[in-house]
Amino acid sequence: MAIEFNHIVKIYPNGYEAIHGFDLTIEDGDFCVLVGPSGCGKSTTLRMLAGLEDITHGELKIDGKVVNNLPPKARGIAMVFQSYALYPTLTVYENMAFALDLAGFDEDVIESRVKETAAILGLSDYLDRLPKNLSGGQRQRVALGRAIIRHAKIFLMDEPLSNLDARQRVSMRSELVKIHRNVGATTVYVTHDQIEAMTMATKIVCMDVGVIKQVGTPEELYFHPKNIFVAGFIGDPPMNFVKGSVKGKIFTSDLGELDISGIPAGKLKNMDGKKITLAYRPEHVVLELPEGAKKEDYLALDAKVEVYEMLGDVQNVYLDKNGVKSIIKASPDRKIEIESDLPHFILKSDLHFFDTETEDAIPE
Ligand code: ADP
Repeated sequence: MAIEFNHIVKIYPNGYEAIHGFDLTIEDGDFCVLVGPSGCGKSTTLRMLAGLEDITHGELKIDGKVVNNLPPKARGIAMVFQSYALYPTLTVYENMAFALDLAGFDEDVIESRVKETAAILGLSDYLDRLPKNLSGGQRQRVALGRAIIRHAKIFLMDEPLSNLDARQRVSMRSELVKIHRNVGATTVYVTHDQIEAMTMATKIVCMDVGVIKQVGTPEELYFHPKNIFVAGFIGDPPMNFVKGSVKGKIFTSDLGELDISGIPAGKLKNMDGKKITLAYRPEHVVLELPEGAKKEDYLALDAKVEVYEMLGDVQNVYLDKNGVKSIIKASPDRKIEIESDLPHFILKSDLHFFDTETEDAIPE
């Protein structure tokens, strides 16, 4: 079912305005991830959608109907929290059957739904176990099962993976994507972790204190961030930023004068003299020009190596030049020497430019 937020504002009873006018449409079947730093209003938004928090102004629609005043139970929503909230004395079967029992379903309907749900979640062999005899990942799946079994049209999830260890988190990410594909319910998922957003979402909503900074697919946010906030939030290590200004084909900053001729014509038009931030991702840097590459297609930089981290598949190299810090990725077999000068190159088409004052991307 589609969900529509029309200029939603949330003011808490203490007067704090947590959400400043939220406009968003989530399509039927979307896996929509609300992502942003702690305190930006993700849970508040989710709780308003669930009906657990009043909406101060604006209109919330589910499936075309205004639901501002509809109680949580009447919204057709199932919610999975960070703490799984399983009943410790009930088996996996009983935990999953609980809501259907309460709703007065027949025993044979309950049994077939529990079996069907357990099969989707890989829990068929664990139906007689108590939660304490399950791993964190299995408990998380039971919690999901309790949501799925109700055949809810909308799933809400608030940081559901945060209690799992790193390995379980990675495997649950792909499990959730598969489950979403099988079940097809519209899902709204809250996390502060941009990797979860990038790996699971069909639609990412990137938030900063009380406002949406960008909505789009993972590819759109990664390749075309609309502002410095999104550019710096999506990607790990984060994007590098260099503040300076443009005159003609020269970008002047603490790195000196850089030749940026060849940047798409319209892009920096009318930017002469304005404060501009040039940006590039660590993974878009190369240490040698590829064979046959044209030198003029690349921006040439150099900087001193401060530290490097060998991660196995890649090295993160931390650089400094005249106080401008940057991080680049290098292949693991490349010998890096601390304190040495490291020339490096970035394809000009991989550069991003932002207006330093408004922090908005400079359009093509
Ligand atoms: P997030 O989920 O992104 O971490 P929250 O939605 O929990 O953020 O909180 C958003 C902002 O609203 C925070 O500044 C938080 O302190 C504030 N807040 C949350 N709940 C209340 C409340 N009941 N009363 C007042 N302020 C609140």
